[in-house]
Amino acid sequence: MFAIHLMAFYFSKLKEDQIKKVDRFLYHMRLSDETLLDIMARFQAEMQKGLGKDTNPTASVKMLPTFVRAIPDGSENGEFLSLDLGGSKFRVLKVQVSEEGKRNVQMESQFYPTPNEIIRGNGSELFDYIADCLADFMKTRGLKHKKFPLGLTFSFPCRQTKLEEGILLSWTKKFKARGVQDTDVVSCLTKAVKKHKDIDVDILTLVNDTVGTMMTCAYDDPYCEVGVIIGTGTNACYMEDMSNIDLVEGDEGRMCINTEWGAFGDDGTLEDIRTEFDRELDLGSLNPGKQLFEKMISGLYLGELVRIILLKMAKAGLLFGGKKSSALHTKGKIETRHVAAMEKYKEGLANTREILTDLGLEPSEADCIAVQHVCTIVSFRSANLCAAALAAILTRLRENKKLERLRTTVGMDGTLYKIHPQYPKRLHKVVRRLVPNCDVRFLLSESGSTKGAAMVTAVASRVQAQRKQ
Ligand code: BGC
Ligand code: MG
Repeated sequence: MFAIHLMAFYFSKLKEDQIKKVDRFLYHMRLSDETLLDIMARFQAEMQKGLGKDTNPTASVKMLPTFVRAIPDGSENGEFLSLDLGGSKFRVLKVQVSEEGKRNVQMESQFYPTPNEIIRGNGSELFDYIADCLADFMKTRGLKHKKFPLGLTFSFPCRQTKLEEGILLSWTKKFKARGVQDTDVVSCLTKAVKKHKDIDVDILTLVNDTVGTMMTCAYDDPYCEVGVIIGTGTNACYMEDMSNIDLVEGDEGRMCINTEWGAFGDDGTLEDIRTEFDRELDLGSLNPGKQLFEKMISGLYLGELVRIILLKMAKAGLLFGGKKSSALHTKGKIETRHVAAMEKYKEGLANTREILTDLGLEPSEADCIAVQHVCTIVSFRSANLCAAALAAILTRLRENKKLERLRTTVGMDGTLYKIHPQYPKRLHKVVRRLVPNCDVRFLLSESGSTKGAAMVTAVASRVQAQRKQ
């Protein structure tokens, strides 16, 4: 009995010591609510800057008009094809939206690989490859006989002047195909598809994945007016009053704005909260100096941040008895799925031991506890930062509507949000704390970002049909 008490005491003391040690080492990654409110205020100012005609050219948060004005009303119907490029996986899908009242969406889809040679090679080859996948999909599913409207979910910042156009401003995440920046992605794809004489599609829309998510959620919940992605990359969109959008003519109604919040901080506004780990990660990335907010948040980077921290701690003699392994020295060896596994409620500690052992390390019990806590701090910071930016958007919506209290729904998607065991709960809690005057419903959109382009295409053809009447 006494022995058990002693062991429990020993374990909790061990845990306390490890947590204290990590907390001290990562002091700058733990953001107080005061800091988060400050970041929220900075993001509000950035949004304003991005929306203004004169300030937009130098704004780092681009606030891109999407030309999506209407939200689904349930009366959409038809068959649509869509492509989803830029998320964790490339896929082609066919969506059937059925008649009025039913709000019924059926889809079949197929994933295709995106090897680095393709996504970092020649732009024209990338589009040829996408067209080949589309043709393959249409052939294997017997869809060659008919002309299909097609929506493209393209998860990169694009300047649009209409729904069926998108000038790529820059590649982000893992993509870096040559010769595409500053060109219209829809024309590139149209050209590539034309080479296939046996298929016929009409590319009607290009949407960002956040927009797709918002639209898919809005189909189920008409209160939805925000879309957030926390996946390989991160971003959000929301419905803005036309009267506040300087870059588009007209003052009536609303239009969806793709904020491109991933670029928040690219002008130096977040230097005070960026750490030595963030700087090191950025230097080793495909796009140094760019997407600095995204690099503190999204799935492509969280694991790497953890690796950089663990290596630094080992070097300082704070972990693994000062021993390092070659895997721990290797970029990309810790992935976000590992971070998620290490933070699992029950198996977390055992997972941590296994993952560290696979990295060629010999962790003690204390090391495992410490590493688990490193993961928690890194992923918690990510959720905190997203919450601050999202709180800014919610406040903007509330102020636009001149309401004391806002009741709204946020459509959510993205691998990190979906696979991390604690992420959603933490994010929701912090948002509610930062904006107590907003009643927010978070709606997870199952494959919303993918389905979304089809939804936008469906809405576009409904609106087109109504206009013709
Ligand atoms: C892109 C956004 C996209 C986000 C999530 C970012 O890197 O710039 O356009 O919405 O990733 O996929
Ligand atoms: Mg996606």
